[in-house]
Amino acid sequence: MIVGDLKPIEEIVSLIPDFKKILVVGCGSCVTVCLSGGDKEARELVRELSHTGYYKNDPPAFSHSTIERQCERDFLTSYLEIPKGTEAILSLGCGAGVQTMANAFEPLPVIPALNTTFLGASEEPGVWQEQCRGCGDCVLAFTGGICPVTKCAKSIFNGPCGGSREGRCEIYADVPCAWSLIYHRLKKQNNLKFMTEYRAPRDWRPGGGLGPRERRRTGINGSPEHSAPYPVKRDALEVGT
Ligand code: SF4
Ligand code: SF4
Repeated sequence: MIVGDLKPIEEIVSLIPDFKKILVVGCGSCVTVCLSGGDKEARELVRELSHTGYYKNDPPAFSHSTIERQCERDFLTSYLEIPKGTEAILSLGCGAGVQTMANAFEPLPVIPALNTTFLGASEEPGVWQEQCRGCGDCVLAFTGGICPVTKCAKSIFNGPCGGSREGRCEIYADVPCAWSLIYHRLKKQNNLKFMTEYRAPRDWRPGGGLGPRERRRTGINGSPEHSAPYPVKRDALEVGT
């Protein structure tokens, strides 16, 4: 899931001084599960932002709504009702949700109330940990299902650096060395052969840096007739631009 954190309330207040009527929109998916941007949080944010102490003049008038997925344009245009006179939307969705709403309801300003932080999973109640950086070339098959891009402070691919000590990372002593975790997982799986296979320096470009990455699927109602080359910007990759 995508994990996000509510921005500091003072920062949110500083983003909305020019608007008199604001719709606060929660998202019913990832940010609901990580307890930062669902319906409950949208209601609480409206309550907090309505305190007069935050404003020199009268506070804006707030209403609120929650949509199942802010990152689905069809959901937004079919189900999100924007009250008459709304001057801005304050979104508790991730960055994808904010941008989808900004495109769907242009020119209405859509303001983020969250900082989108990472792609993660729940480790224990109340704790989420980053799991994946969407690198575009997954190596979990060789690493016992532990991501070296995300879990190793140096994102290295051929075993631990020289600083690994007693299973801890040299960068942060309270963090396990990812390659120690990988070694022990592979050992349990009888797959230590993967530790001895050399992995060449990787091409990081599938992970981004060539403008927005895009995937196209055919055969879905309304989808493009032809698949774009995979990845879409392969030409750019091949000429090294
Ligand atoms: S290797 Fe890449 S795709 Fe696989 S979990 Fe790590 S960051 Fe994500
Ligand atoms: S100690 Fe382990 S986790 Fe830390 S940077 Fe070195 S290899 Fe990566």
